[in-house]
Amino acid sequence: MNFILGSGILGLLAKVALGDQWCIIPFGRSRFYSFNPPIGDNYIIRNEFTADLFSRLGFSQDIQYINGAYSYNGELIFSNESFAKYEYIDKLFATDPHPLAKTLLRIDFMAHSISIYELYHRLLERYKSEILENNIKYGDINNITDHIISTTTGKYQYTKIISTLPLPTLNKYSNLSSGLSSRDMWYYHVTTPLLNFENAKFVLVGDKPYDFHKVVNIGPQEYIFHCLKDLVNPIQYLGMFVNNQLKLLNSTFIPQAIPIGMPPNISNLEQMDIYPVGCHGQHDYFMDLASSIKRLYKMKL
Ligand SMILES: Cc1cc2nc3c(=O)[nH]c(=O)nc-3n(C[C@H](O)[C@H](O)[C@H](O)COP(=O)(O)OP(=O)(O)OC[C@H]3O[C@@H](n4cnc5c(N)ncnc54)[C@H](O)[C@@H]3O)c2cc1C
Repeated sequence: MNFILGSGILGLLAKVALGDQWCIIPFGRSRFYSFNPPIGDNYIIRNEFTADLFSRLGFSQDIQYINGAYSYNGELIFSNESFAKYEYIDKLFATDPHPLAKTLLRIDFMAHSISIYELYHRLLERYKSEILENNIKYGDINNITDHIISTTTGKYQYTKIISTLPLPTLNKYSNLSSGLSSRDMWYYHVTTPLLNFENAKFVLVGDKPYDFHKVVNIGPQEYIFHCLKDLVNPIQYLGMFVNNQLKLLNSTFIPQAIPIGMPPNISNLEQMDIYPVGCHGQHDYFMDLASSIKRLYKMKL
């Protein structure tokens, strides 16, 4: 039997990409796309593999152009190659940089017009009975060794596994050590009439003194601040930037939200026929959904 570990957006997309001979072992929900509005950015970059997947699902192939900006010293900068970009990378990755960040970080791209949130909920609807059934059937995983997944309901032999679980969690099940660095994130959903992003959908904030690294415009006068620490009094702190004309609509905390540092070598897992996929699965900040779907297609499992 082949298994997909995880029932977030990537687990469900893996099921579409790999086919019905793959069985999902569910693990809760997508941490970023279960909420409305979603916490994560909401764009699937288009490539030939995502286009194939969308056509298999019978979804629209419409695309949209997305562009962001960097903020530096209070100015918006729309260039992909700029001092502001390097400042931003230093701020986000702190002492543990991703070696390809300067090459891979982009602020403009062509994306599918269907959002990740919408895609996730359409796929949940499609697979909901399998997820419910498998949740009961497989229970919770205890460990994975010698091609056997041991769970609270029994032992299941596997041929191959695709794992979308955060890599430290998978390593724990496989009795492997991790030592991986990540950053916790605090997200604040606010409304204010006073921000002007000059049509950018998001702003990456390299300015070191500020406690947020990114602000995403999710609708008219609505923004999500991605913060590097608990603001304790978010209305007061964020209000300083908008003349106190701000309402807090919601907030949440996600531990280990951003994987940082050099993506680890995962060949030890692959030797066990376990293939981690995704930003958290591979502990690689730049494995967005489009890159992860490409990896799934290229693996030819
Ligand atoms: C802030 C942010 C914005 C992003 N924006 C985009 C974007 O716009 N476009 C894009 O293509 N990619 C984006 N990514 C990268 C990636 O696509 C998303 O992180 C995506 O949510 C990963 O898929 P998921 O929902 O399956 O993952 P997750 O929800 O992170 O987890 C996968 C599975 O593991 C389970 N799980 C999570 N934590 C644990 C735990 N501690 N123990 C056990 N199980 C756990 C979940 O329930 C789920 O079943 C973003 C990432 C971040 C951090």
